[in-house]
Amino acid sequence: MFFSGEHKISNLYDSHVHWMYTGQVLQSWNLKKIKDPLEILQEKLLPHYFRGDWVVGFGWDESFWPKNFIIHRNFLDSKFSQQPVFLSRNDGHSSWVNTAGLKKLGLWLPNLNRADIVVDDSGWPTGHLKEKAHIEALYQLPEFSADQKRQQLLIAAQHFNRNGFTHIRDMTSSLDQWKMNQQLLKEGQLFLHVEHWFVCESVTSLEKVIEAALDCKKDENSMMKLRGVKLFVDGSLGSHTAFISQPYSGQDQSGQMNWSTEDIAYCMEKIWSHGLEIALHSIGDECTHQIVDTARKVYAKGTQGRLHLEHVEILRPETIQMMKSLHVRCHLQPCHWFSDSAWLETKLPKLYDHAFPWRSLEKSKIAFSFGSDSPIEPSSFLSNLKAVDLADKKKIFKPQHPVINYHTYPYQDSESAETVIIDDEIKTISFKNPYG
Ligand SMILES: [Zn+2]
Repeated sequence: MFFSGEHKISNLYDSHVHWMYTGQVLQSWNLKKIKDPLEILQEKLLPHYFRGDWVVGFGWDESFWPKNFIIHRNFLDSKFSQQPVFLSRNDGHSSWVNTAGLKKLGLWLPNLNRADIVVDDSGWPTGHLKEKAHIEALYQLPEFSADQKRQQLLIAAQHFNRNGFTHIRDMTSSLDQWKMNQQLLKEGQLFLHVEHWFVCESVTSLEKVIEAALDCKKDENSMMKLRGVKLFVDGSLGSHTAFISQPYSGQDQSGQMNWSTEDIAYCMEKIWSHGLEIALHSIGDECTHQIVDTARKVYAKGTQGRLHLEHVEILRPETIQMMKSLHVRCHLQPCHWFSDSAWLETKLPKLYDHAFPWRSLEKSKIAFSFGSDSPIEPSSFLSNLKAVDLADKKKIFKPQHPVINYHTYPYQDSESAETVIIDDEIKTISFKNPYG
């Protein structure tokens, strides 16, 4: 037990969530518990599994399935011959689509010759979409209705509250979501402090994203803040797309960056010069190294601002040294230990010592916060505490300060709140004065 008896924690913070997606996943077909893909074919479809005419599910992980199983559209086609199907993998970086779905997405073509679209021996797509192809497809799915979206935000907020959180940092917000947040506050329905981050997908859309962010910033209050702009720079370790400094064991690839350092420098300069902050999704050690190096160059040229590094699951000591001259905060998710520890040492034998670097960050006095990456992992600080303990037994040493310190809101600009825990159970949450 972590908290025996009664404990009060101020401003309990999940520092990396996807608010709307958390609601979507809570409402959608949950594939996380599936141990055999045949269960997918046996499922009785419920009305909330649908997004327009698409059947949508989330959370499969083939590493739990029979070894020789291959992700292929034919398997889905045997149940869904006409209806388009889109099933996201548990890491949110790839998807499995059937033939009807590929047709709708305009991807039913031979020899597409793209690394992010897996093809079979015949040259036709298998329906396994990765990274960019996955994200593009996700954006092509029919929109949820305004009412569905509102429900998703509410369901997710209640989920965060049930897990004790009074403060979240939403990494994939939008203008739409900002407005819904305002409305829900106005109606007195929300007991959650939210930091909003808008995603920028390309240099060409940067100006528009900054403009929207600045507009929202004028309307900040004690329950909602607009922090800045986020870029997805690399991928995930699970799909070998996080950019690391050596090839993945048994492979000739070491991942890649989706943004050039020139473009990252350009974004940093623009975003900081408008008084906004920048966050970069960076999991691999080489990706983070190049980002930090780029930020130092932008600083040296005279533009400075706050830099947030998301995930940083592997981080080399020399990169941590280079961070010292920057206003930087890292956002780590200990709960990824539960899925990644199974292969971390075999996949990255030489980088294992640099994985989950909370102890080294603490030693070097680099600011960091803990979060869940919900809906990728459940939003739970208790499961993070557990993960830190388990990792400690495998030579990834825990921080010297109490772990819960890294789960509290690190700024002074919000309405203050309190979470009461008795014997590891969340009893109540309360805000001093949420509606002024
Ligand atoms: Zn995330």
